[in-house]
Amino acid sequence: MYRNFKIVPNIIFGRGAFNQLGEILKPKRTPGGCMVFVMDEVFSGKELESRLPLEGGDLLLPVCVRDEPKTKYVDELTAKVKAYTTQPDGVIGIGGGSSMDLAKAVSLMLTNPGSSVEYQGWDLIRNPAVYHVAVPTLSGTGAEISRTAVLTGPEKKLGLNSDYTLFDQVLLDPELTAGVPKDQWFYTGMDCYIHDIESLNGTYLNAFSKAYGEKSLELCHQVFLEEHEDSADRLMMASYFGGMSIAYSQVGACHALSYGLSFVLGTHHGVGCCITFDVLDEIYPEGVKVFREMMARHKVSLPRNLTQGLSEADMDTMVKVSLGMTPLWENCLGKDWQNIMTPARARELFSRM
Ligand code: NAD
Ligand code: ZN
Repeated sequence: MYRNFKIVPNIIFGRGAFNQLGEILKPKRTPGGCMVFVMDEVFSGKELESRLPLEGGDLLLPVCVRDEPKTKYVDELTAKVKAYTTQPDGVIGIGGGSSMDLAKAVSLMLTNPGSSVEYQGWDLIRNPAVYHVAVPTLSGTGAEISRTAVLTGPEKKLGLNSDYTLFDQVLLDPELTAGVPKDQWFYTGMDCYIHDIESLNGTYLNAFSKAYGEKSLELCHQVFLEEHEDSADRLMMASYFGGMSIAYSQVGACHALSYGLSFVLGTHHGVGCCITFDVLDEIYPEGVKVFREMMARHKVSLPRNLTQGLSEADMDTMVKVSLGMTPLWENCLGKDWQNIMTPARARELFSRM
């Protein structure tokens, strides 16, 4: 059975495209209605905030992404919006993967009863979301085009995966990524590079994923190993294509291990993937070699010795969470993966992080 998957219907791309956001939202506005702008608070008081196309009753909701999105936070934000209006005309997420995922989750929870915890999983969402728009300000995660909103709940880190999760509109304006700190730019960019490597070296690979993955990888090489004036534009497209590639295949060992790391230590996605990828020479030899060249070229270093001094119980949890990601391992190592990635081997990899 092939998956018949939904994609984002409307995309606008280009430098300064943000100036068209007001026009894009106009037909979605109803008399007396309002828009909710879920904006990374890093932009509070900054130029971008003053450029938001806010109208009369609109709600500006600055969000804190110090921690990656939690179900509890999504429920609080949803309650705030509900206290303000019965139903907004739209939700616009402005920021990196965290802010975009928060916007997706809020737009879903406005139309689905209960707590977001109840919807962590696959296709548990019953009602279509409120119209929602992504405006990425950081490139790499592919969250702008994926069908998931990754959330950490009390029991698991698992996304709200559904066709309703997909944005209705994506606005790609490479100018918006200008202020990203260098390390963050690199870590989140590497998330994209790793999506490509894992997709292209996986057993789930097919012509669809290969087409997007190869183009995305080519763009990553241009961005991280060459000099180009429009490298921000290229990275934004790499992120989009990388997301399309894994949408029809899967990620692999690096993401599986990074979930374990992040579950126990709260390590953020981009940097967590870099830390993990750096010990995967045996699985992705060429990918890791080039990754190290990129790191050296941009003089980026990684946090080290994260797992030193961790309790046995924490190490066990890390291994368990990671090895629980069956499709990722199967994509990476094939049906026989459990005989190849044993708990002892996973543990040894974690001990080197
Ligand atoms: P992020 O959104 O967590 O942001 C990282 C940092 O960069 C924050 O401090 C933020 O304020 C700052 N920032 C963002 N844009 C900026 C700008 N233009 N100028 C200055 N600072 C800026 O980082 P991310 O790596 O984009 O996203 C990670 C999150 O995405 C994780 O929660 C991860 O689980 C999620 N994710 C989701 C998907 C998906 O398909 N939904 C895929 C991969 C990752
Ligand atoms: Zn990723």
